[in-house]
Amino acid sequence: MPRERVIRGDEDGGRRGLGGGNSGRPPDHARGGQPFDPDDDAFDDALRPQRLCHVIGQNKVVERVRVMLDATKKRGDTLGHLLLDGPPGIGKTTIATVIPRELSVDIQIAAGPALSAPKDLLPYLTNAGHGSVLFIDEIHRLPPAVEEFLYPAMEDFRVDIALGEGLNARTINMQLKPFTVIGATTRSGMLTAPMRDRFVYREHLDFYELEDLVELVCRNATKLKTDVTREAAHEVARRSQGTPRKANNILIRTRDYATLRHAEGKITTEIAAEALEMLEIDGLGLERQDRRYLQTLMDVFGGGPAGVQAIAHSMSLPADTIEDDVEPFLLRSGLLQRTPRGRVATDAAFEHLGRRRSQGGGEGGPTLF
Ligand code: ADP
Repeated sequence: MPRERVIRGDEDGGRRGLGGGNSGRPPDHARGGQPFDPDDDAFDDALRPQRLCHVIGQNKVVERVRVMLDATKKRGDTLGHLLLDGPPGIGKTTIATVIPRELSVDIQIAAGPALSAPKDLLPYLTNAGHGSVLFIDEIHRLPPAVEEFLYPAMEDFRVDIALGEGLNARTINMQLKPFTVIGATTRSGMLTAPMRDRFVYREHLDFYELEDLVELVCRNATKLKTDVTREAAHEVARRSQGTPRKANNILIRTRDYATLRHAEGKITTEIAAEALEMLEIDGLGLERQDRRYLQTLMDVFGGGPAGVQAIAHSMSLPADTIEDDVEPFLLRSGLLQRTPRGRVATDAAFEHLGRRRSQGGGEGGPTLF
């Protein structure tokens, strides 16, 4: 999740990383030859596309964003509010930060869980310049009071501020400058209908095609000044669960491995396969936690159906983490089914883990006789 910060929209991408241009300070990784820390913001910033033309894949979404931006610029207007939804690491923040750059306006970044009361949101609203962007990550986690405070701000660019209490209480109405809210969510289903309706534009980002991720790995290897063969890039991409953030993280780890194992630090198929094995990422791209989820579902619940809360308890993990980070890819890859009675491991999941479904387990659940 990005930190709260203000980026000037007209800042050259090159000044904030490797995304574009060659002016300004050198990219973080080039300074003093420091290796990247995948959890470091600098790493994310360095690989994050800075312009819409650098965004890989999501062609339809990019095309529609391009149309909204061009029309907004032509009218000299403020962009309508935009909601981006999709699994974690798929490019929501990337698109949200590219937009103000394209429009040459400022951006403020806030996170839903950090806005616990209307007073936390107020400074963002009063600071919002004409046409600027307020990006709210995890917007589905805004408390109801904050959400209600945001409605008039989004609709009429005004806020109602309550002053004093009891008999002396009064409300002042404050006019704001027209601005754009870009909301990002991993759970559009959890947004209230009034909140969802206030977004003129809504875009869903889906998992990436393999070819797009191969392109991403090759491009980012160049940014990291690392050689990677096309086959090795394919191997990294194939095991990245269709997610750019995972592809980037695997690339970084593979590059570390290549630095130690290959004379020129080149990422070959062999090196990539060894690194992926070390990272315990299997042939389908499942990580340890994904396999643990399936194993729990099979061993404890006979393959299901089982409720997500029950699985979460058995794994000692929050249900949110499971729903956001683990299940989307398992569902998409046909290893898991969501039924009205709960989660069910498919035959493909049993086969992948080399297990046999126990008698009476599966769709129908255990039987009494
Ligand atoms: P989200 O906000 O959906 O969790 P991010 O936008 O933070 O995901 O993406 C994570 C990382 O993946 C970014 O730092 C960026 O390097 C990379 N990335 C995401 N989408 C793209 C894309 N379409 N093209 C190139 N890189 C991308």
